[in-house]
Amino acid sequence: DRLKNDFQFIDVGRQGPEKVPAGIRKQQFAEIYEPFQPRDASSQAHRCLECGNPYCEWKCPVHNFIPNWLKLVTEGNIMEAVELSHQTNSLPEVCGRVCPQDRLCEGACTLNDGFGAVTIGSVEKYITDTAFAMGWKPDMSNVEWTDKKVAVIGAGPAGIGCADVLVRNGVKPVVFDRYPEIGGLLTFGIPEFKLEKSVMSRRRQIFAEMGVEFRLNTEVGKDVTMQQLMDEYDAVFMGMGTYTYMKGGFPGEDLDGVHDALPFLISNVNHCLGYEQDPSEYISVKGQKVVVLGGGDTAMDCNRTSIRQGAESVICAYRRDEENMPGSKREVENAREEGVKFLFNRQPVEVVGENGKVVGVKVVATQMGEPDENGRRRAEVVPGSEEVLPADAVLVAFGFRPSPAPWFADFSIDLHEDGRIKTVAQPQEVGRFAFQTSNAKVFAGGDMVRGSDLVVTAIDEGRKAAEGILDFLEV
Ligand code: FAD
Ligand code: SF4
Repeated sequence: DRLKNDFQFIDVGRQGPEKVPAGIRKQQFAEIYEPFQPRDASSQAHRCLECGNPYCEWKCPVHNFIPNWLKLVTEGNIMEAVELSHQTNSLPEVCGRVCPQDRLCEGACTLNDGFGAVTIGSVEKYITDTAFAMGWKPDMSNVEWTDKKVAVIGAGPAGIGCADVLVRNGVKPVVFDRYPEIGGLLTFGIPEFKLEKSVMSRRRQIFAEMGVEFRLNTEVGKDVTMQQLMDEYDAVFMGMGTYTYMKGGFPGEDLDGVHDALPFLISNVNHCLGYEQDPSEYISVKGQKVVVLGGGDTAMDCNRTSIRQGAESVICAYRRDEENMPGSKREVENAREEGVKFLFNRQPVEVVGENGKVVGVKVVATQMGEPDENGRRRAEVVPGSEEVLPADAVLVAFGFRPSPAPWFADFSIDLHEDGRIKTVAQPQEVGRFAFQTSNAKVFAGGDMVRGSDLVVTAIDEGRKAAEGILDFLEV
């Protein structure tokens, strides 16, 4: 009985699931964490203090009922835990795997004060994976079906979050995606060592059984027009992501051997999954000296993919210090263990080439200055500190900007200056609904509204937009 030990958080230290040893995992595109064993999941969940007003819950973007499902796990009540976890999250097993917990729920855990935070993410993953293995499926028996039809553009986390809430409220969504599998960047971006692709194909099956229809390999604006969707559906949700690659703006970026991060990662996914149309699409850095530029999740994924492809060496150069790096600390540690070398406080100023082919990256040293408008300390250049890092391949991971389609304007869908879609921020405005765009029938959420961010924030916005759509449709 868990009530027997109020001091579990002292008696049992924070312990995540076992990791596959670095020497083995760097040779395979497979998840690196072993599943939690039931006894370990329970004893880790038992460390929760059940704070009266849990800060972890507040810090989690979807406001999961964390202490409540942790308690159910200690009681061995997985079925109730999985139901509760799905009340707030459409893809809990994904968030458990890829959320940067150190700056969200676990960063906010009261025990993150020397005792070691509760392993919230791993338990969240454990709950859903275990429930699925036990045959759990969402219970749709009480759903009263309406005759409303909603089109969802994009099967990424935003579109999935939206479709999940709609279908549970009796509105059958039809989800269009240009890719052959659902998941958006979860499938065609995030590598398998963080999230195995079977997780999303299992979900596709579950959602389809719930009543969500997926029309894959279908691009809106090409294979089907927005006008058709506007004519055939009662509302449209757009969760199309951000896909304009940021450039460094320095000489040499177009040399042979310099690649944007996402095409590199996608070509690797396609290669591993057999989606490759033409073998020449595969970008391999096998046997090469690789320099990765950037310090976010995408850069970490490029680092670790390069290692697995068999790169001779991988250096990640980032212009700020480790403290000010945007990527998850867990992933930086994993990358280090796998052999990635980090060079902090180095800003690229040129990709150096010979005969049109990259041979190195010229960087300057930086030092941390005053905080910028986002509170992150500026990187200031140290004069006379230039050096050239030898490279055969350079992977540019500077992030993404919005990629609005030309047809948005035909439907009076207004944009911010930077290309993000404008949506209603204050749903209490009379006659307006959560995440509605300037076209009353069109809603939007995820990266295309907030700029490139996180899986969990995209899920959150998709779910909230679905609530807005339900209000709009008076369901
Ligand atoms: P997306 O996931 O981009 O999905 C958009 C979907 O819309 C895509 O499937 C696309 O094919 C489809 N689409 C677009 N236009 C059309 C059209 N015209 N017709 C049909 N379909 C269309 N976040 C984390 O929380 N943790 C991580 O570890 C993490 N790692 C990342 C690693 C990489 C390499 C990248 C690039 C991002 C990472 N992120 C991570 C960020 C996260 O993946 C995104 O914030 C999230 O996927 C955004 O969800 P979304 O639904 O808004 O867009
Ligand atoms: Fe933590 Fe993300 Fe799960 Fe929320 S969704 S509890 S932030 S891992």
